[in-house]
Amino acid sequence: MSDQHKFETKAIRGQMKRTSFREHSNPMFLTSSFVFPSAEDMRDTFAGQQEGIIYSRYSNPNTDEFIHKVCAMEGTEDGFATASGMAAVFASMAAFLEQGDHVLASRAVFGSTHQILTQILSKWGVTHTYVDPMDVDSWEAFIQPNTKMLVLESPSNPGLALVDLEKVGQLAKKHNLIFNIDNCFATPYLQRPIEYGADLIVHSATKWMDGQGRVLAGLVCGTKEMIDKVRFFCRHTGPALSPFNAWILSKSLETLHVRMDRHCSNALFLAQALENVPGIQRVFYPYLPSHPQHQLAKRQMKQGGGMVTIEVEGGITRGQRFLNSIQLCSLSSNLGDTRTIVTHPASTTHSKLSPEERLTVGITDGMVRISVGLENATDILADLKQALEASQ
Ligand SMILES: *Cc1c(COP(=O)(O)O)cnc(C)c1O
Repeated sequence: MSDQHKFETKAIRGQMKRTSFREHSNPMFLTSSFVFPSAEDMRDTFAGQQEGIIYSRYSNPNTDEFIHKVCAMEGTEDGFATASGMAAVFASMAAFLEQGDHVLASRAVFGSTHQILTQILSKWGVTHTYVDPMDVDSWEAFIQPNTKMLVLESPSNPGLALVDLEKVGQLAKKHNLIFNIDNCFATPYLQRPIEYGADLIVHSATKWMDGQGRVLAGLVCGTKEMIDKVRFFCRHTGPALSPFNAWILSKSLETLHVRMDRHCSNALFLAQALENVPGIQRVFYPYLPSHPQHQLAKRQMKQGGGMVTIEVEGGITRGQRFLNSIQLCSLSSNLGDTRTIVTHPASTTHSKLSPEERLTVGITDGMVRISVGLENATDILADLKQALEASQ
C-alpha cells in the first residue's frame, strides 16, 4: 500500500505484514510480551537500535496496525493508541503542558475534556480560557505570553457548532501554538485537520470508528516528533489499548467509508424532514442551508456527519416525555453506532448546570441529540414523529 492509494484502499489494505501462515485477515496477538532470540537482540531492541516489539504496554502488532491505518487516513506520520478517547485527550495535553502554561480552549468541548481542564490540569498549575468556537477571529485577544496550546472540536457536541480550521491553523502558526483538535465527530473520512496545520489529532475511536458500539478506544496522531512525546508519556503511565480491541477496530475501519456515507445520507434526510415538523423549533445540521456556518461546513467537511440536533418546544419536561415516547431508537449516552441513539442533554449529561450555564455552552432545555444510525431513514423519521405527537 502506498500513500498514493485512495481512502477506501488504505482503510482495507493498510494491514500489517502477514505471519508465516499467510493468513488473509489479521490474526490477534493476545500476548502481554514478546521474546528475543538473544541477549544482544534484546539489548538493541530496548535501545531502539533494532525494530521489535517488547511489551504490549509499549506496542503490539494489533495496536500498531490500527494506528497505521488511522495515520494513513489522517495523513499523519505517527500515532499512539489508548484504551479510551479520554485517555487520548488527556495524553495529548499532559505530554506537552507544564506548570505555568495556558490553554485556549473552545467553549464547546466534550464534557470530560472540560473536567480535565477545570478540575485536573488546574491542580497542576495549567490555566485555561474558554473562547467562542464560532468566532475564531476573537481568539487572538485572549492569547497570553504563556499560552501553549489551542484545544477544540469541530463539529461540537451537542450543538454542532463548527470551528474554522483554516483560521485556527493560521493563528497557531503566527503565535507558535500547538493546534490540538478532537476529530471524533467528523472522522478522517469527512475532515482532515492536517490540511489546516493541526499538530495533534485526537480521536475517540469508540464512536464512528468502531461504529458498532462494541469497544472503547482512542488515539493521538501527529508528526513523529510530537508523537514521541505522547508515546513517552503513555508508555510510562500505561493507558495502552488492548490488542483485542485494536483487532476489532482494524476490521471496523475497513467499512468506515461505507458506513459514514450512509450515516450522512440518513442524517441529511432526517434533518431536512424534521425542519418541517410542527413541534420542532430548530434543527441543527452542518449541511442544512439554515445552519449559520453552512458555507464553512461545505468547505471543510466532505459531508455533514451523522449527528442531528433538534430543539423541541416545551423545554425539559417535553424533552423527557419525547424520549419516553421513543419506540425504535435507543436511549443511550453513546453515539456513532449502527443503531440510532437519542439523548436529552439538559436532563442528563448537562443536568448539573443551571439553565444559564447550559446556554453559555449552547444547550437549550428542549435540545435532543440524535446519533443517526443505519436503519432505514424513513423508519427513524416515523419513530421521531410519533414520539413528538405522543409527547404533546
Ligand atoms: C466520546 C467522546 C470522547 C471520549 O471518548 P471515550 O472513548 O468515551 O473515552 C471524546 N471526545 C468526543 C468528541 C467524544 O464524542
